[in-house]
Amino acid sequence: MLELSGIDAFYGRSQALFGMSLSVEAGQVVSLMGRNGMGKTTTIRSIMGLIDARAGEIRFNGQSLTGLPPYRIAQMGLGLVPEGRQIFPNLTVRENLVATARKSTQKTTPGGHWDLQRVYDLFPRLSERQNSMGDQLSGGEQQMLAIGRALMTNPKLLLLDEATEGLAPLIRTEIWSCLTGLKAVGQAILVIDKNVDALTAICDRHFIVEKGHLVWSGNSTELRANPDIQHQYLGI
Ligand code: ATP
Repeated sequence: MLELSGIDAFYGRSQALFGMSLSVEAGQVVSLMGRNGMGKTTTIRSIMGLIDARAGEIRFNGQSLTGLPPYRIAQMGLGLVPEGRQIFPNLTVRENLVATARKSTQKTTPGGHWDLQRVYDLFPRLSERQNSMGDQLSGGEQQMLAIGRALMTNPKLLLLDEATEGLAPLIRTEIWSCLTGLKAVGQAILVIDKNVDALTAICDRHFIVEKGHLVWSGNSTELRANPDIQHQYLGI
């Protein structure tokens, strides 16, 4: 479904990605891991067209994303939950959800169409808080809202940059169980997070980035069996 091959990305003259590659198949949950500053967010930004890839190719369902503006890439079915969540502070929860909603143009949204009620069913807390302003929400509520907002675009692939960073343990558990539920209905997900236990429980495949290079990929059994890789590249 998503394929990055040989991506080079730069901030000005400083190169952040060196031949980065990864892939996500339909229905898969895939992680992107690595220590701070290694290139995870830059990889997501490259996919979403927020930074130009100067070499290599990014394809989504057979179509090249190279050179397309971010809104076109989103329209093709990529739904981003960005680092820092970027909730609209001066809109209510409900307004945040409907502001960027998009009806599925084809009947291909995994698990069926997303609307306000389905998001409220997934996160009842958002229903209770639907008239609260974005800047009145807790971190956990903001992350639920960011996920709900991405789902309201009816994405074929959901991308989460730091799924549970900075959240309380109970909220983290709720986010992981939400992602497990999404996987169960066939939603493809590319997720960045630091919790290896949670990631190996849910993900089909893992990609590890170090200083802008892809250094390892494999499945959960292989990652669990490889403490050296975890120590060397994830600092565990
Ligand atoms: P984190 O877990 O801290 O978010 P990351 O793996 O997502 O880390 P990136 O944010 O992709 O890392 O950063 C990769 C490299 O690019 C780092 O060396 C970082 O300093 C650099 N970088 C990131 N954003 C910018 C920017 N806007 N301008 C210049 N350099 C940047």
